Amino acid sequence: MDCLFCKIVDGTIPAKIVKKSELFTAFNDITPQAPTHILIIPNKHFTNMAEVANSDPALAGEIFRAAGEIASENGLESYRMNVNTGAAAGQSVFHAHLHLLAGRSFAWPPG
Ligand code: AMP
Ligand code: ZN
Repeated sequence: MDCLFCKIVDGTIPAKIVKKSELFTAFNDITPQAPTHILIIPNKHFTNMAEVANSDPALAGEIFRAAGEIASENGLESYRMNVNTGAAAGQSVFHAHLHLLAGRSFAWPPG
């Protein structure tokens, strides 16, 4: 399968890896939308996070647990976790991933 994130997991395509386990890989987003923008992905290919949760709920939990751990290891008290599901929602890579964003305000309205 020709999947960009599978290639990051197997090392064929380079990425700035933040943390890696048997189950997940976390790496810096190439187009950061905040000072901290990390993607946490399952090493196994799934199309989106809903599919992960449906097929392997413990793995979905592990992705969220890992995101919280990475936030805490980076001293982040306030952060946003985002999951885009489907092209109309902004999903552009169809390998499940969780965005971890921090370092700027996401409050709305701003100010
Ligand atoms: P989404 O739009 O939710 O599917 O998120 C996909 C994310 O992957 C976007 O924020 C992209 O900037 C990011 N991305 C695309 N290619 C790469 C890459 N080679 N390395 C790291 N992040 C990438
Ligand atoms: Zn994949």
